[in-house]
Amino acid sequence: MKDTLPMDEKYKVHMSKYFEEYERSLKDVNGFWNENGRIIDWFKPFDKVLDDSKKPFYRWFINGKTNLSYNCLDRHIQNEKRNKVAFIWVPEKGEEKVVTYFGLYRRVNAFARGLLNLGVKKGDKITIYMPMILEAPIAMLACARIGAVFNVVFSGFGEQALAERINNSNSKTIITADGGYRKGNIIQLKNIVDKAIDLSNGVDNVIVVKNTHTEIDMEPDRDYYYDDIIEDGYVEPEQMDSNDPLFILYTSGTTGKPKGILHANGGYPVWIANTLKWAFNPKDEDRWWCAADIGWITGHSYIVFAPLLLGLTSVMYEGAIDYPKPDRMWEIIERYGVNLLYTSPTAIRLLMKYGEKYPLSHDLSSLKTLGTVGEPINPAAWHWYYEVIGKSRCPIIDTYWQTETGGFTISPSARLGLPDLKPGSATFPMPGIDAEILDENGKNVKPGEKGYIVIKKPWPGLMLTVNNDDKRYIDTYFSKFKGKYFMGDYAIQDDDGYYWLLGRSDEVLKVSGHRIGTIEVEDGLVSMKEIAEAAVFGKPDTVKGDTIVAFATLKDGYEKSPELIENIKKRIRNNLGPIMVPEEIHIVSTVPKTRSGKIMRRVIKAVYLDQLPGDISTLENEASVEEIKRAVDIIK
Ligand code: ATP
Ligand code: MG
Repeated sequence: MKDTLPMDEKYKVHMSKYFEEYERSLKDVNGFWNENGRIIDWFKPFDKVLDDSKKPFYRWFINGKTNLSYNCLDRHIQNEKRNKVAFIWVPEKGEEKVVTYFGLYRRVNAFARGLLNLGVKKGDKITIYMPMILEAPIAMLACARIGAVFNVVFSGFGEQALAERINNSNSKTIITADGGYRKGNIIQLKNIVDKAIDLSNGVDNVIVVKNTHTEIDMEPDRDYYYDDIIEDGYVEPEQMDSNDPLFILYTSGTTGKPKGILHANGGYPVWIANTLKWAFNPKDEDRWWCAADIGWITGHSYIVFAPLLLGLTSVMYEGAIDYPKPDRMWEIIERYGVNLLYTSPTAIRLLMKYGEKYPLSHDLSSLKTLGTVGEPINPAAWHWYYEVIGKSRCPIIDTYWQTETGGFTISPSARLGLPDLKPGSATFPMPGIDAEILDENGKNVKPGEKGYIVIKKPWPGLMLTVNNDDKRYIDTYFSKFKGKYFMGDYAIQDDDGYYWLLGRSDEVLKVSGHRIGTIEVEDGLVSMKEIAEAAVFGKPDTVKGDTIVAFATLKDGYEKSPELIENIKKRIRNNLGPIMVPEEIHIVSTVPKTRSGKIMRRVIKAVYLDQLPGDISTLENEASVEEIKRAVDIIK
């Protein structure tokens, strides 16, 4: 079994508070959420915590009226947070910009007024396709203020994916920028928007922020510059019903066609504010940096809304974490004195691949807590993050959750009681999350046995539905195990009650009657000093069921050779046993990933088996697929 790492005494808070709160959250749903539901202000208090009369369409904080922009801004400017810094915005190149809570409040109001002047109304859908500039959170907050439902589309997507999302969300207004910077290049966002509109059902308004000052076409009576429509003043925040839709966001598309997830005005903010507080225990004076993109749920919940709800100061970074140099992330931490860092395993593996010299050349002593999200973190990456970055004094908060869940579902809780951490385990459920692991027949598995992770009861962050597709909501999430929320991941709970996520349940390997999570083999590969990243899948085999095939990348300084591959197989056999040894290991320069940085095993498998790869609109790097094709051609 995996190793346990006792934490520094300083962090060894007693777990009793956690267990107490956790039990209460499940036993006394009303009492618990009556109290914790007040982490946001309500114009009109809710008169019931949960309505579960139309299962699985759960509704929270019934008849409560609130507004997310009010909760992120107005209530802070009435107290000592008024002049506190909300965001330190760090560009890829050049000087940072700082905006205070009052400044952000003013700017959100001015843009909200601009939207109203264009005729945008409560309930209208708006697509936001923007780079990581301050106007992006301003746009999201302005939409929330007037009750427009926003749909942020990651700015790395091309026109086809953008057009699909404009149509599916039924947006008639688009907010964009002339261009965005990415690794020294300019991405012509407005041009992409123009092409997407041609492919779409048509839109009424396009609002353009001048960012890169590149030449663009402006269509009269449709396209407006942001600077021309904003108008200073106060816009009364709409009184939104707790269960009015707040935003639509498409999932990453790792396993299939992205789903348009719809979140609500009441339950969602309550969930993300509480979970950020429980998991990371941020202090008022802390500087928080969530190094994600606002185009993903992580950016929505933990760059924009939860930190503002809690009145924190955040770093918001425009560019790539290894540009212009591999030490960019460490430089930002040092320069801005970041205390809490939240990033992904894919980022850690990338920075690890460059070697220790980059982090070691910076003073990272401001760091107190380190977080991760997006995929299971390989123990090797965990140790590097913990030892090299955190100098063995910062707990690793491994947060397991999904677009659909709104916020963290399984994560260590630094506030309620931090458990001894085990590298690679997301530890325990957040309060309100009644998780369990089931076998194919819906029976509870024993501790140490693998199965499907489900959540038995609703919690406030659960999506309202899949946009325009209630059937898909029921079929995808509530059908495999009737009435239970199916997360689609494979997991194990060990004898101490810790949860370990083992990869996607539809990617599980079935080798000679044994079920093996993809991550179990990948962890073994990534723990080799030569390997930076690994992706495995099962190749159908008439005798064994599946044989394991791996694609891997090497760390800087290693060369591929047949001896290396044999040697790696030998070590896997010794460390993990014969059943875990990949029959084939192919060394490539990159593995296919989603634009949010997740390994796309289904694409590798399809290419390998010469099948259609399904929806690849979220694929980040087409060259990686070509490379796999070439590798496969050589074998065949
Ligand atoms: P799609 O649903 O379209 O296939 P996706 O599942 O990648 O895309 P997201 O909602 O961005 O879309 O990602 C959620 C998934 O990411 C989880 O279901 C899980 O597989 C994985 N994940 C996220 N965080 C963790 C974590 N800390 N440990 C393990 N897995 C994680
Ligand atoms: Mg998913």
